[in-house]
Amino acid sequence: MTSNTCDVLVVGLGPIGDVLSALLKKQGLSVIAIDREADIYPLPRAAVFDEEVMRIFQMIGAAEAIAPLCRVPDGYQFLSASGEILMRFPMRPGFGPYGWEATYALHQPGVEAALRTRLAQLGADIRLSTRLKSFAQDDVGVTAEVEGPQGHYTISAKYIVGCDGAWSPVRESSGTAMFDYGFEEPWLVIDSIVEDGDDLLQIPSQICDPAQPTTFLRMSGPRYRWEFMLKPDDDPENFASDENLARLLAPWNVMHRIQIERRAIYRFHGLIAKDWRKGRAIIAGDAAHQMPPFAGQGMCSGIRDAANLAWKLAAVVRGDASDALLDTYQQEREPHVRGIIERSIEFGQTVCVLDPEVAAARDAAMLAARAAGEQPPMIPYPPLAEGCLMGGPESGELFIQPVIHDERMDDRLGAGPWLITKMVAATAMKQFVIGSAALGPFSAPLAAWLDEHDVEAVLVRPDRHVFGIGLSHDLIAAWEAIMALREELAA
Ligand SMILES: Cc1cc2nc3c(=O)[nH]c(=O)nc-3n(C[C@H](O)[C@H](O)[C@H](O)COP(=O)(O)OP(=O)(O)OC[C@H]3O[C@@H](n4cnc5c(N)ncnc54)[C@H](O)[C@@H]3O)c2cc1C
Repeated sequence: MTSNTCDVLVVGLGPIGDVLSALLKKQGLSVIAIDREADIYPLPRAAVFDEEVMRIFQMIGAAEAIAPLCRVPDGYQFLSASGEILMRFPMRPGFGPYGWEATYALHQPGVEAALRTRLAQLGADIRLSTRLKSFAQDDVGVTAEVEGPQGHYTISAKYIVGCDGAWSPVRESSGTAMFDYGFEEPWLVIDSIVEDGDDLLQIPSQICDPAQPTTFLRMSGPRYRWEFMLKPDDDPENFASDENLARLLAPWNVMHRIQIERRAIYRFHGLIAKDWRKGRAIIAGDAAHQMPPFAGQGMCSGIRDAANLAWKLAAVVRGDASDALLDTYQQEREPHVRGIIERSIEFGQTVCVLDPEVAAARDAAMLAARAAGEQPPMIPYPPLAEGCLMGGPESGELFIQPVIHDERMDDRLGAGPWLITKMVAATAMKQFVIGSAALGPFSAPLAAWLDEHDVEAVLVRPDRHVFGIGLSHDLIAAWEAIMALREELAA
């Protein structure tokens, strides 16, 4: 008989809910995952994702299925109206320090289908066509009222996580406010299939033409995306009409070979929720933050939320840490997301210039900077700064993942946390001693990493972020103290 009781109720099975549910299942928790829709949202939204996200897909055993669905783009560029390169971010070729290519272009529904398949393989209790109506919480758990194919019923859980998108009912019920960055631009998004599109730009491009700011990129296979900014005198009613589309696409010479899958007007904006957690109700992904897509990071940020939250929820549910550990989720994630939202808005402000004189000055400044060899970083990913961290050098950085003979280190080491050390330590924690059989060929790069940082050991959290570096017994003591301190605080 189906049980309506679980450790975690995940509301919303977009990419974030899929990944969070899979991570929680991998941690051994019981999960009920509901979505009001009968199927995956059929149209693409995200077009690119990064290496950290692929590493998280690897964590749930989905990377092998996802990689062949993706394309590796050659870079990212900003072009002037006449096609001059104003700014170009070359993509590092090959696998980088985290074991994957820097960026992947995707077709979101294909990737979501692979995630959903993996979630089913992991044995999650997936309930589609099932809508959250309301929920209440007390000291021990959450009671949710849902409506599904079998009618109205109640689900009891220890925690509820709203991965329920921009209009998040979980966030709304929790009554949390949104901080608005004040960036607000309407854009028309066109998703299409273009056969024989090899003559089109193959590098994702922002075309900084004040007469018509445009984003263009090839997703994967024959799928292409155009985004056209609406100017103040454009008529939103007519902007997506066949006639206007023919006008917008005329310079691209594709009208005779394009099949349009979707045309929709989106308002690009930057928003972030004030409270990501209210007691036993937590939000993640678009429910917690939204950003303009100019850095391709909305979904990526949500998937990072899932990786940060999953091991903490698991530790709390298992009784290994107090519930206060969950407060470090927003503490760690919010500054990171804010940094990325602000970069996305900067990119947007560069593209969304309509005044020809301002655009000419922008172009001149960007061309001069490029001629002088100045290159701003694509996204300065901030390390996690405060939270469940020891502090000091490397603390909060993403740990490396060497790849040797097609084997990735994380697959060999398994679920974390890991103590990687030169000396055997007295601990029940999972430890890997340099030179031991368990590390196999990874001893050499890990020993080199420890030597480079001039330390005996590194403690890596389950989400592959460095907790701290130093002497093994200091790391173990700090890790245990953080958990114990939180127990004391909660007592
Ligand atoms: C034009 C565009 C381009 C983008 N490009 C990129 C990009 O290149 N890279 C990138 O990383 N991101 C990009 N994004 C952002 C990315 O698409 C989103 O951040 C991501 O899809 C959000 O995923 P989510 O799981 O949080 O929410 P969603 O995918 O919106 O999923 C929410 C789910 O919750 C369900 N739900 C809602 N209410 C209920 C309820 N009451 N009961 C049950 N279920 C419910 C919904 O049915 C839905 O399935 C882009 C977005 C847009 C619009």
